[in-house]
Amino acid sequence: MTTPAILFDVRRVTRRFGGLTAVDGVSFSVAQGECVSVIGPNGAGKSTLFNLLTGADMPDEGVVRFDGEDVTGYAPEQLARRGVARTFQHGRVFGNLSVLDNVLVGAHARLGAARPGLPVAGALAELWRALVPARQVREEESRLREEARAVIARFGTRLAPRIDAPAHSLSYANRRRVEIARALMLCPRILLLDEPTAGMNESETAEMLELILELKREGLTILLIEHKLDLVMRLSDLVLVLDDGRKIASGLPEAVRHDPAVIEAYLGHRQLGEVRDERIAAADIARNEADQTRHETS
Ligand code: ADP
Ligand code: MG
Repeated sequence: MTTPAILFDVRRVTRRFGGLTAVDGVSFSVAQGECVSVIGPNGAGKSTLFNLLTGADMPDEGVVRFDGEDVTGYAPEQLARRGVARTFQHGRVFGNLSVLDNVLVGAHARLGAARPGLPVAGALAELWRALVPARQVREEESRLREEARAVIARFGTRLAPRIDAPAHSLSYANRRRVEIARALMLCPRILLLDEPTAGMNESETAEMLELILELKREGLTILLIEHKLDLVMRLSDLVLVLDDGRKIASGLPEAVRHDPAVIEAYLGHRQLGEVRDERIAAADIARNEADQTRHETS
């Protein structure tokens, strides 16, 4: 059996904000087909680490390799073109675009530098149509729309009936689903999910778990930030624990769970974090329900 290729190989990356070291000499790697989870209390440096891997931010020290190539400091679109897709902790969708168009945006990077962009809206669409022969545009456009519909269908009745609705009319949980759908449109080689179930209730969380398990079964490599430990235990091949920017443990889920350093550092803090998270989650769920009543009754 051949060993799977290493997709991300991260060596001693450090990111400082003034006097604060948000990520402090962290090393780890993610092999093809694996699900690696990053856990740790609020402020541990998890989202900053994601930013360093996706080009949203640059490390002060250290090296990030992707599939053997040194990609340290690459821009987000350069990484996207290599198949690195992500979602954000505080979901980002284009409020005035429909669900379908939001998802179509994800195909941008895939179309590559040599080809004109995707006809999403306005001036960009006009430029695209002016540059490419009409028949070719129509074929490409309808092919991608079909693909986007298929990706949206993965989210069942949550998104499909709302495919033409503007994203601003969606519930919080649905906006997170749109973001994941958009990331999948890239046909990613690795998917980075930053707290995909934040603000979701129990049944929504269970649905998300099923979806991530399915993506994993299909062979997608996943890097996950997640607070819900039962989810982490179910999904991960490897768990990385951060505290104050430093890696304090890594290993198999069960081993990490029983690591005394993790219990002390992570679970100790977590009681504080949990109170805050619960408050945020309660607010999200309230907003979610209000949104559903307001926009989704039909
Ligand atoms: P986590 O995702 O684990 O909760 P973050 O990576 O968001 O943690 O933050 C790690 C630390 O870095 C926190 O103390 C946070 O306040 C700080 N931080 C993150 N981004 C910035 C920034 N752009 N400027 C200054 N400080 C930041
Ligand atoms: Mg975070």
